[in-house]
Amino acid sequence: MTVVTKQIDMAASDVADAPMELTDGFHLVIDALKLNGITTIYGVPGIPITDLGRMAQAEGMRVLSFRHEQNAGNAAAIAGFLTKKPGICLTVSAPGFLNGLTALANATTNCFPMILISGSSEREIVDLQQGDYEEMDQLAIAKPLCKAAFRVLHACDIGIGIARAIRAAVSGRPGGVYLDLPAKLFSQVIDAEAGAKSLVKVIDAAPAQLPAPSSIARALDELRNAKRPTIILGKGAAYAQADELVRELVERSGIPYVPMSMAKGLLPDTHPLSAGAARSTALKDSDVVLLVGARLNWLLSHGKGKTWGAPGSKRFIQIDIEPREMDSNVEIVAPVVGDIGSCVAALLDGIREEWSGAPAEWVETIRAKREANIAKMAPKLARNAAPMDFHSALGALRTVIKERPDALLVNEGANTLDLARGIIDMYQPRKRLDVGTWGVMGIGMGFAVAAAVETGKPVLAIEGDSAFGFSGMEVETICRYKLPVCIVIFNNNGIYRGTDTDPTGRDPATTVFVADSRYDRMMEAFGGVGAQVFTPEELKRAVDEAMDSGRPTLINAMIDPAAGSESGNIGSLNPQSVIKRKA
Ligand code: ADP
Ligand code: MG
Repeated sequence: MTVVTKQIDMAASDVADAPMELTDGFHLVIDALKLNGITTIYGVPGIPITDLGRMAQAEGMRVLSFRHEQNAGNAAAIAGFLTKKPGICLTVSAPGFLNGLTALANATTNCFPMILISGSSEREIVDLQQGDYEEMDQLAIAKPLCKAAFRVLHACDIGIGIARAIRAAVSGRPGGVYLDLPAKLFSQVIDAEAGAKSLVKVIDAAPAQLPAPSSIARALDELRNAKRPTIILGKGAAYAQADELVRELVERSGIPYVPMSMAKGLLPDTHPLSAGAARSTALKDSDVVLLVGARLNWLLSHGKGKTWGAPGSKRFIQIDIEPREMDSNVEIVAPVVGDIGSCVAALLDGIREEWSGAPAEWVETIRAKREANIAKMAPKLARNAAPMDFHSALGALRTVIKERPDALLVNEGANTLDLARGIIDMYQPRKRLDVGTWGVMGIGMGFAVAAAVETGKPVLAIEGDSAFGFSGMEVETICRYKLPVCIVIFNNNGIYRGTDTDPTGRDPATTVFVADSRYDRMMEAFGGVGAQVFTPEELKRAVDEAMDSGRPTLINAMIDPAAGSESGNIGSLNPQSVIKRKA
């Protein structure tokens, strides 16, 4: 229990020699977080939360200061994904809050539990719009972008406020929560004993949600009648940390599975039942599809269209903790609502009782397709090309992860993302962290910092040169905290490609950057290691050195500026004009 050492003078009528111990808003926030096992804060200091960060550090919490709130917010969000505890992001009022908001919204979209705690200005002045320092109605602005938003006005309510924020973030479908703490709250002084009593230790913050037995029976019927079943594992399955159960479901049923990007490694990508390299066939030609913590959103073509073969050819079973996810895009014939651990365990009970074995012909079709695709890709990956293209560079990094399967891989970009996702095999759960549901750029350095801090494992961040730019200043943060992060920049001089020109000849094209930029020198500026490489062999050697030393490293990997394709794999989402005017 923390107390303010200062003691107040008691009124004459009080017992003069029994001074009250006091606490305040600052200490209560810290005590409430610690009581709930929250040990790390990601943030940017400033008014009115400077002292909160300082004091949290003094009280033994890990407080990591960033250069921009968006990166701190992304760090908190991915910490939530990795640990199943809400990641905490701490920001200053108005502009700092807004900077953190993109990360909060992204966390909510991705179902990552996170709490954005932001200081705010004086309610009385803000509500009368009298022009306070950093005046903004932050609660109202945050509300539509997160699962829940709360404001605490009295120090005695801090315990309840933080308990509510934690529950909202991790229970049911996880997501982002906003907690508004006005400046005045922090210095409110109350009796320490009353303060201690006001704190709440949240019991069973994310209770198991058991599926209805009838929903399990329905799902089992569908699976038993399937001739060409496919399992799709999503990042909800990775988040759930029910790794052994998920593995047993796949292996006992013998059903081929397709991992979504951040579910890669839940079972090793080299698993005999992996249909990752036969994704098109597994989706198009299947008859029954079991979704485990994956939504039928744009990433799965909404469950319809040519990706999924003939209309009406699919029957979908879906496991999800959120009942309203069912039928969101197509009919779900067997909805199973509950947490993934409980649902998969219940399915397994049924499979152990009665299962006629894997559909051999279908498993063989998938296997053959997978082997053929892998063989087709192999020579492209093995080429020691100079200049490097995406495939040859990624071939080298694929070997790095094969040799260091416990490293965390952070990945963003266009071509750099789409190709790395397919090329780099993952071997362990929750090792691949990327742009997620929105395909957002800018998660790179925030994710890399939190991955290193939360796991203590080496981190390899594979970044397009454009993507890196959104959070690149955090290389200073990485150096400051001496984190074992190796950043590889795929430098092709621009967005998609570095070869565009301005038809008028006046300016650089909108998609190009300074040619042959030396990003490696940014890392050197802060005491880290920089390297520039031109071949896959050099790249592999430089990454190995970085991962062995654990020193912050940035490798500028020079890629042929003509190698990329527009928008990577999602060019179809990028409208292009067919009308050409004369300049
Ligand atoms: P992906 O992008 O990998 O396909 P999504 O983010 O679309 O994954 O889907 C994840 C789904 O997992 C969400 O619908 C979410 O409600 C669900 N989910 C998250 N955690 C759990 C859990 N513990 N149990 C069940 N479902 C969960
Ligand atoms: Mg580029």
